[in-house]
Amino acid sequence: EREELLKLKAQKDETKDGSHIGLYANIGNMSDLSSVLFYGAKGIGLLRSEFQYLGRENYPRENELFRAYKKVAETMGERLAVIRTADLGADKQAPYLDIPQETNPIMGNRGIRLCLDRRRMFKAQLRAIYRASAYGNLAMMFPMIDSEEEMDEIWQIIEEVKEGLREKDIPFKEIMTGIMIETPAAVMISRELAKHVDFLSIGTNDLTQYTLAMDRQNPLLKDKYNDHHPAILRMVRMVVDAAHQEGRKVGICGEIAADTALTKKFLEMGVDFLSVVPACVLPVRKAIRETDLGGEKVSAVK
Ligand code: PEP
Ligand code: MG
Repeated sequence: EREELLKLKAQKDETKDGSHIGLYANIGNMSDLSSVLFYGAKGIGLLRSEFQYLGRENYPRENELFRAYKKVAETMGERLAVIRTADLGADKQAPYLDIPQETNPIMGNRGIRLCLDRRRMFKAQLRAIYRASAYGNLAMMFPMIDSEEEMDEIWQIIEEVKEGLREKDIPFKEIMTGIMIETPAAVMISRELAKHVDFLSIGTNDLTQYTLAMDRQNPLLKDKYNDHHPAILRMVRMVVDAAHQEGRKVGICGEIAADTALTKKFLEMGVDFLSVVPACVLPVRKAIRETDLGGEKVSAVK
């Protein structure tokens, strides 16, 4: 069976009737880079950049971040690599971050909220990403976005970063940007949010915990936390339709993206891309290639 799967490494992510879907990989450290290439993913759909901040004594310097992103860009070549900006919080702590203890860290000062509070840290990461953009095909996306105001703030910071690079004649590209849809609020305003970026990426792991009000890490809720809850699937459909109404791409990077029992459903909804752990790329590719939509695909970006 593994032999059969490995034969799919260079095959297209296309259904029997010719519908395409982008199949990308999620990675959480630099050593996963090789498996993205090994399994023939179209690129990296989610690079969880937290590994650069955790388990250390001080803030990573811009240059260190830059070198890592440059390596990602160069290793991926033409392939797209989406860097998710730091998603830190009281649950993903390092002593130097000095994040105060919170009663509910999951609902606390985390993700983009923390980055917007710590401008120097955020700017260093954005500068590193833009500097590295000159070496390949990078994109970036922002975690835990709840409001358009956050996007306005982010764009203002991005403009400052770009201006700084221009002043010093440091080369960079205009890269694609995306928003992670992982709170019910973001789902409800996904159409408005879509206007701010090129793509939306649905983080069903957090979306499930916030929609069901169940801590995804609570062992007592392990059997109850259900990312296949009809509410989640309905939300996915809402976000796909909202993104397409604005002419934006939309995909899923939470764990349900790797469930081959849902592949056909996602294709029918018109999901543009899926991002899964590297080891799931080939099983999902197999499921895509075995699917025949027979003209059932509802919507797609033109
Ligand atoms: C998610 O929340 O679904 C997601 C992809 O991000 P993370 O698992 O890193 O929170
Ligand atoms: Mg998340």
